[in-house]
Amino acid sequence: MLLCKKIKIEVSPQDAEALEFMQAKCRGLYNWWVLRLKSGARWNVYEAKRTLQASKQYDLELQQVYGKLLAEVYFRLDGAMQAFFRRVKAGEKPGFPRFKPRHQFFTLCYPAMYLNKVTGHTIVLPTGGGRWGPKRYPDIVAHLTEPPPANFKEVAVSRDARGNYYCSFVYDETEQHQDEMPRTDKKRKPRPLRANGIVAFDLGIKTLATGYTDQGRFYHIGGFKGYRYYNKQLDKIRSKRDKCKKKSRRYLHLSRVYKRVSERKRRKQQDCLHKASHLIAGTLAERAVVVGDLSQRQMVIKKQESETPKERRKRQIRNRLVYNDWGLYGFVQMLTYKCLRFGKELFIISERDTTKTCHVCKHKKDMPLRVRTYRCENCGLVMDRDDNSAINIYERFLARPGPHTR
Ligand SMILES: [Zn+2]
Repeated sequence: MLLCKKIKIEVSPQDAEALEFMQAKCRGLYNWWVLRLKSGARWNVYEAKRTLQASKQYDLELQQVYGKLLAEVYFRLDGAMQAFFRRVKAGEKPGFPRFKPRHQFFTLCYPAMYLNKVTGHTIVLPTGGGRWGPKRYPDIVAHLTEPPPANFKEVAVSRDARGNYYCSFVYDETEQHQDEMPRTDKKRKPRPLRANGIVAFDLGIKTLATGYTDQGRFYHIGGFKGYRYYNKQLDKIRSKRDKCKKKSRRYLHLSRVYKRVSERKRRKQQDCLHKASHLIAGTLAERAVVVGDLSQRQMVIKKQESETPKERRKRQIRNRLVYNDWGLYGFVQMLTYKCLRFGKELFIISERDTTKTCHVCKHKKDMPLRVRTYRCENCGLVMDRDDNSAINIYERFLARPGPHTR
């Protein structure tokens, strides 16, 4: 299984400038192609790649960018276009490839075979030019803060919002030597695994995941609690900043503070999601993990005419939670790869009406989000809302059509 290790690198100011230059040129090429495609040009990755020479003639600075990085731009756009075609074919929302904005670092992908100069903690990232004159930027020499994995396949260079640079190494888990990677399965004790065990999870805002097992046990995984606090802080900083004159010293300072705080929030949240998904995929004994399909979910509050300021505020908070902060989509992706890694089976099934239905008598009623307890008028069941829907997901999984292996 392919894994990725992201390592922070230290570069000199001059090398940082070279990286910025190359990513800006790659982004320019990408955006130029997006513009062409938007105005109706046909996409063929090989034909597009053949135009690179002409592009280099047009913009001589492109020659100062390492050629393999420019080639990767076409493959990256090809990936975006293929995904677009697939979505159109499947009748989903098309999502045409977008322009890459200037404030975002355009990730640079080096295939490993051109990076044979990794010695110890030093990696040499080549730059372009030099064939018809002096190189504008010499090859970049970066210091890795951690040892890189052996036999890596590809290295992607990225930057975070605060200006730190990182190398992400893609490598195969099975090709690692035992002595080089001491933290592999050797030390890890085999965890108890119930081959027939099933655990079903309902994902939500208040509790990140509520689980129900075939033995009738509940799991409650709380998730990240700091959204309120961080959003309040961020709002405060932003409103302070917006009162300043643009580009003034105070404005720039508050921008930096804003970036720092939002990075911290994101890190804490990601950490929390990683831990929760590791708990489900790695620690729990049940072999089959079932979660509801999120794509059906409608949790966004629609804007209404004549809403009070309080309602408006509430809608903004909720929708921000759903769109940005929640991270449930990322959580399901983490679960997918972690289950694969730990030899668990992940099932994603439709969760339609699982919250509305009483798990005892199958009576249905509307459940607005603020109602946390399910009270059934039909049979008198009183139960936590998430517990009830976890049971429903579990039962739907058992009743699913198709070949049963257990
Ligand atoms: Zn009932």
